[in-house]
Amino acid sequence: MSAPPAPVRPDPYALGVAGLAALLGDQPRYRAEQVHRWLVRGVDDPAEMTDLPVALRDRLRELLPPPPRVLRRTTADGGLTLKVLLECGGGEAVESVLMLYPARATGGGRATAGGPAAKPSAGRATVCVSTQAGCAMGCPFCATGQAGFRGQLSLGEVVRQVTVMQRLLAEGELDLPEAVAAQLPRHVTNVVFMGMGEPLANLDATVGAVRWLAGRDGQGSGFGLSARSVTVSTVGLVPGIRRLADLGLPITLAVSLHAPDDELRDDLVPVNRQHPLPELLDACREYRGRTGRRLTFEYVLIDGINASVDQARRLARLVRGLGAHVNLIPMNPTPAVPWRAPSGNAQHAFLDTLREAGVAATIRRNRGSDIDAACGQLYADYALASGRILPTAVGAAQRVGSAAAARPDG
Ligand code: SAH
Ligand code: SF4
Repeated sequence: MSAPPAPVRPDPYALGVAGLAALLGDQPRYRAEQVHRWLVRGVDDPAEMTDLPVALRDRLRELLPPPPRVLRRTTADGGLTLKVLLECGGGEAVESVLMLYPARATGGGRATAGGPAAKPSAGRATVCVSTQAGCAMGCPFCATGQAGFRGQLSLGEVVRQVTVMQRLLAEGELDLPEAVAAQLPRHVTNVVFMGMGEPLANLDATVGAVRWLAGRDGQGSGFGLSARSVTVSTVGLVPGIRRLADLGLPITLAVSLHAPDDELRDDLVPVNRQHPLPELLDACREYRGRTGRRLTFEYVLIDGINASVDQARRLARLVRGLGAHVNLIPMNPTPAVPWRAPSGNAQHAFLDTLREAGVAATIRRNRGSDIDAACGQLYADYALASGRILPTAVGAAQRVGSAAAARPDG
């Protein structure tokens, strides 16, 4: 007779205070609150929960899964960008990035991955989280898409990417000169869902994580982020956009557009065939109406593919009237395609064309490109090392490449 399967241990982050109280059974409720406070601070090894009795710490070690390990830490931008590789369930590893903006260096009012810049004097600490190991959406320019889908992250695995960074920040473990560290906040100020994966294709974990970080409805964690400083970036999954609007939290929605028409978008963002531009823009309008939040559109600039002045004009016509902000992202090179960002002049011509047409726009500089840590650019190492290049991504890239060569404005 085979042994009974080991009981599945619950994810402490997903439990919330009520779930932890139920797990602890006979313990007074404040014990669950103590555990929860430790989790919020990034401590998930019961051995380190020093205000709990030792017997309870031991019991928690049996009840909860072993705390995942930080496998690697890498820094760039003089220590202001930090990439962490975290162990996840099922043998997967997942990357997240902390981007630090010291108070004095914040000026200029330039919008960045963390959304519109805060006041020039306020420092920021933005965490970019992944929601999936890999991604199934197959956008041909994206390293994550090229590598294919390997699994969903749980709510706890998403939240933990933030609390790990929170702990580093609060404990000052950042290898930065004193004068710089003094200009940084001690708490994470922004979270952007722009790492590996499509957040709205892992909807329950994404919605749960948003509520954990910024909720105020009893599911709230005490993590204390304002919903406005949480940005969810989506490739445009319409049902997920509607579900986010149902949450009633004014989080920022960033929609990855990348093309001014369905024909090109079908290839650059294959899910456009399921949710073409008119349907997507309707959902965006509805999101704006229901939350009162200004939308962001992301547009990766790819030389010879989507970055001509005529395409800028058409993009302006498409989004004008939506009151949105367009973030132009010069493409970072990825393994499976020969595409590159256009020249600086061409990027500015695109930007100026949008602005002249009355569309608010900025060019986003990616952080940490020297360590492959740029947000939305995670996973390139894996793609190269594992040879996991999706045939669909390669096929789409070839199609777009030849179509662009034949197009007069390409
Ligand atoms: N799946 C979501 C969120 C993760 S990607 C989405 O697609 O929106 C976050 C952002 O990084 C997206 O706007 C995506 O288009 C962009 N991105 C992906 N690959 C990139 C590359 N090679 N260079 C620049 N930006 C890229
Ligand atoms: Fe997935 Fe976003 Fe990359 Fe597209 S751009 S493959 S949706 S992670």
